Amino acid sequence: MRVLVVEDELRLAENVARSLRESAGYAVDIAADGQEGLFLAESNPYDVVLLDLMLPKLDGMELLGRIRQSGQHTPVLVLTARDDKESVVALLNAGADDYLTKPFDLGELLARTKALIRRGKGQPSPVVVIGDLELNTVNRTVQRGGKAITLTAMEYRVLEYLVHRPRAVVSKTELLEHLYDYNWEKFSNVIEVYISGLRRKLNQGSSRQLIRTLRGQGYMLQD
Ligand code: CA
Repeated sequence: MRVLVVEDELRLAENVARSLRESAGYAVDIAADGQEGLFLAESNPYDVVLLDLMLPKLDGMELLGRIRQSGQHTPVLVLTARDDKESVVALLNAGADDYLTKPFDLGELLARTKALIRRGKGQPSPVVVIGDLELNTVNRTVQRGGKAITLTAMEYRVLEYLVHRPRAVVSKTELLEHLYDYNWEKFSNVIEVYISGLRRKLNQGSSRQLIRTLRGQGYMLQD
């Protein structure tokens, strides 16, 4: 999963980004002003956007309006300061999905971010079940047929993305764009390695292949 953080307080933005990377395994891009935020939001497929309101160049409310006018459904969590003039009602009416008042607890931010990503992908439960595969997004564990499977951090991230797009053809580019930050093109050769590692681990003790390769198109997770 890939998150955009639009926040001009650099220290806060970096704390949030570190927490998302380390505790959730998400890729994170940071924009330090509203214009950069809008540019990134329009040019990349984020799974969620964390948006400060008081921003240089283009304020958060304006940015939110522009994203929604362009028809983007990406969930947006607004970070509000106590003295922000916008009311919660105005925020929600402008297309925000949730909000959090500063100063906030990073654990709460993480939980709300995960919940928004899940809902954005039509998977409200934190435990995703596909056939005999079970993926727990809270403690990042995987089981197949009731048996725990140990994955590397990147294998888990690939599988987490695929289980949120079940029975869909997911191209290598889509995976790269959602698993890495703006540097994603540098990693284009590694996806096959993670997929083959995942296949080997998921198939222990089971003959049914969960991840199909569609030549020239991508991958499909199905039970
Ligand atoms: Ca600010």
